[in-house]
Amino acid sequence: MAKIAIDLKSGSIKNEDQLIIGIDLGTTNSLVAYISDGQPVVVKDHDGKSGLVPSLIYFPDNDSVIVGNEARPHLINDPGRTIFSVKRLMGKSYADIVDYEHQLGYQILTDDKDRLVKVRVGDRFYSPIELSAHILRKLKTRVELALSQTVEKAVITVPAYFNDAQRQATRDAGKLAGLDVLRIVNEPTAASLAYGLGLAPEEKKTIAVYDLGGGTFDISVLRIEDGVFEVLSTNGDTFLGGDDIDQVIVTYWIEKHRLDLATPSARQALRLAAEEAKKVLSGEDQFTVEFEGFHLDLSRTAFELLIQPLVERTIQSCQAALTDARLTTADIQEVIMVGGSTRIPFVKSSVSTFFGKPVHDELNPDEVVAAGAAIQADILAGNRKDLLLLDITPLSLGIETVGDLMDVIIPRNTKVPCGYARQYTTSIDGQKNLKIAVYQGERDLVTNNRKLAEFILSDIPPMPAGIPKLEIRFQLNADGILQVLAKELRSGTTQSIMVKPQYGIDEEEMGRMLLDSIQNAKEDMQLKALREAQNEGRMMVQSAGKFIQQNLGWLDERQVQEIQRLAGLLGQSIDEESKDEIQKRLESLNAYTTPLAHKALEVHVAGAMKGQTIR
Ligand code: ADP
Ligand code: MG
Repeated sequence: MAKIAIDLKSGSIKNEDQLIIGIDLGTTNSLVAYISDGQPVVVKDHDGKSGLVPSLIYFPDNDSVIVGNEARPHLINDPGRTIFSVKRLMGKSYADIVDYEHQLGYQILTDDKDRLVKVRVGDRFYSPIELSAHILRKLKTRVELALSQTVEKAVITVPAYFNDAQRQATRDAGKLAGLDVLRIVNEPTAASLAYGLGLAPEEKKTIAVYDLGGGTFDISVLRIEDGVFEVLSTNGDTFLGGDDIDQVIVTYWIEKHRLDLATPSARQALRLAAEEAKKVLSGEDQFTVEFEGFHLDLSRTAFELLIQPLVERTIQSCQAALTDARLTTADIQEVIMVGGSTRIPFVKSSVSTFFGKPVHDELNPDEVVAAGAAIQADILAGNRKDLLLLDITPLSLGIETVGDLMDVIIPRNTKVPCGYARQYTTSIDGQKNLKIAVYQGERDLVTNNRKLAEFILSDIPPMPAGIPKLEIRFQLNADGILQVLAKELRSGTTQSIMVKPQYGIDEEEMGRMLLDSIQNAKEDMQLKALREAQNEGRMMVQSAGKFIQQNLGWLDERQVQEIQRLAGLLGQSIDEESKDEIQKRLESLNAYTTPLAHKALEVHVAGAMKGQTIR
């Protein structure tokens, strides 16, 4: 196990002197940063003005490409060859994006609806991966020019809600740009690192990251515990951002002055004026501009009224994210503002009012994600010796119980070294041997997890089912060696075995297993509930039979028949695999037999009805 990759503070990558850069690959703007003297530095353009590289790609012809600011004018004069918002296409098929295809000025290939999308430029086709690689290459070159050294390693951020395909596409884009992508990091995680949250070893916090960018809005609720970031919930709107705010202003001016915008360039010019107004109003109370003979103006008060409905939608998303995480605003300890549009004072005050506390806006909101990516890169490079390197088990460890169920003994994200024990019992009378199968993984059925070892605890003195007390102890030491100890407490029979859980699983596989468990959680839960009900039902049927046998002396015939009838019904429902029915019939049988059991004071039977069993 050694150092674990899903943990931010893992030391799994060896210390090399090579610089690792942090990249925020954004829908509207992208940035690159690195750590110098312990501080994140966002690399600026050649005149040192801005760290933002607009995520725009222009293909003047088939052999050349222009990325960033220089591509911007071509959005108007050559829209078919100018690609924007490529991030929206990452890991998507045509069927995924057909609803917003009309919003893209360029052509999307539609021949195969289920394959990953491609963009058509002239007679050439580009995958979103290739297009993103152009942006990444531009960023890579930017650092290399600034530092006069080559860079090959990077950490790239993605939205917390990105799925496996989207993350993989981002990784591939990095590879194509000549970068070794050491890690894909969630944008809200990077933002909190930039604010120093999650860097203290023993820190435990629940935070919200509010990210309002150019075209998208994301709210993420994170739990930080001992250096591990867990996404509790995400919400947002993939079509709500600064662009919509600009559009609201454009519409306002058009209606107020009955403007007639005949040409695309007039429309674009008005849009730019609106964006300027928005930015000016983040600092001042009034904006005016001359536009084609009209005197356009906007006050901050009027602006706030215009954008109120948009801001309200983001607040509703915040509420939804909290509800999903089963939290209230009082549970949120820190709120972090990310994205250029959070510069708007009305946005800040609305978010602050909703959460009932001041928000973090001390850092430049469009640089925080890149800065955090650089910090993560620095941690991976092993440059932060002051940070405690924690070891945690990346996947849960447990044993198989009746019904192929995984019973977790050490949950994932538990700090090592650690030791846990649980007690079990047998399901068959006179059972002498017990199979103990050790598994690793998050799924509820062991067949979906990874088997690590199996051994037999033998020579258990024969006892009725439910009587043996079997203790299974898992001891995980700092080197990731798991020792499994099985002991029958009444007789003292013991067995132990050593297992190396981490062996053979790489970071990718681990990520897949975790993702798998999230995607299948609901299905697993239903199946698990059914299996548990079935197990309980079978035990009950068995006990009922035994109960009759042991108490024939005093039970009357009517009572025996009734127990048999109820047990028969229960057995039927077990075979029919209906959880609710099983539970109903379990209850009926239970209700009928409980008073009888009391009367019999048959402790063995009562014992057999409780506790989990292993084969
Ligand atoms: P993304 O993460 O989507 O790539 P950014 O975080 O870079 O986007 O945000 C870009 C948006 O921020 C644009 O809509 C831009 O107009 C807006 N923006 C930048 N500066 C300001 C400002 N001072 N006031 C209001 N909006 C701003
Ligand atoms: Mg962003």
